[in-house]
Amino acid sequence: MSGTSTDFQLVGSKNIAIIAGMQRILFDPSKAPKYLESQQSIACVSHAHSDHTAAFASSIEKYATEVTLDIHQALGGQTRKSKPVKLGDKIRISEGIDLHVHTAGHMLGAAQFVVEWNDRRLVYTGDLNLSSTLITEGAKPIPCDILLIEATYGRPDAIFPPREEVYSEIIEWTSCSLKSKKIPVFQVYAKGKAQELIRILNTYLTVPVVVDSTVAKVSDVYVRHGVPLEYITADTAAGREIMRRGDYVYLSPKRFNRRLFPSDQQFVQAKATGWARIFPMKNVDKAFILSAHADFQQLLHYVEKAKPEAVFLTCGDTTTFRVVLEKLKIKMVNAGRGVKQQKRLSDFI
Ligand SMILES: [Zn+2]
Repeated sequence: MSGTSTDFQLVGSKNIAIIAGMQRILFDPSKAPKYLESQQSIACVSHAHSDHTAAFASSIEKYATEVTLDIHQALGGQTRKSKPVKLGDKIRISEGIDLHVHTAGHMLGAAQFVVEWNDRRLVYTGDLNLSSTLITEGAKPIPCDILLIEATYGRPDAIFPPREEVYSEIIEWTSCSLKSKKIPVFQVYAKGKAQELIRILNTYLTVPVVVDSTVAKVSDVYVRHGVPLEYITADTAAGREIMRRGDYVYLSPKRFNRRLFPSDQQFVQAKATGWARIFPMKNVDKAFILSAHADFQQLLHYVEKAKPEAVFLTCGDTTTFRVVLEKLKIKMVNAGRGVKQQKRLSDFI
């Protein structure tokens, strides 16, 4: 890298911001520092999971996809000073600086952001999934000079089975449970995972899917954006009637609460998460390795295909994945913790 003022600069470590000329761009800040709010700053919000949406509460201008904004609003969040974008968009955010929006495959509306400036390209992946699902197309590696990538599963033992295999396990377990007169209850994230499960159940079974109100609100947004999902909200007359009769599947982000269900019914409980590959899941009868994130191999594949001259790990198992990348002679950007001063990316390489 040149190390001149024509180069991207990096600010902070947890709150990642880049500087291109006079423009500052924050990626999924956990909060926008005051000194950045006072500058010419914008924030890019990659998706609707709550650990990425703190910027919506700040006063700086935000870019996020329409789906991300709609999900945030549907759950009561405010999105003032937000500019809706679409996957595939290319936007000029200021003189000579372009922002491209690509799918991240992590949930509906999840985006990777590409910043181009002075013939340099920087990619921020946000949370990433390279596998296509019944709802989202898998993310593709984007060739770049600087790569800011997540590393949630940046450890060699985090290798996930093929998605189709997991789908068929889910269907088999659900069918067997219903045949033995037990109600399958899935405890899953309300944003993304729940909708994928509804789609799996709708596609391969005919059983009614009853969901709690949070899952319903997010699912309503998916439907408005063209994803065919059929579900019944538990807290409605139709939902109560189905639950009274039995023979349904129940989805909720909350822990199983026996009191919500008719007393004569029996249940089996499951989770669907990539962590099931690594840790034993407690208090459930079954755990499925269904992740919205790239596994270790996909992360490596991304870095290999993107061919960046330097990589910065934004979150996850950054320590382990860093060691792996360093063994592969890939240069790392190391802002470290608590960096307060502005630094050029090239200072860290
Ligand atoms: Zn996420």
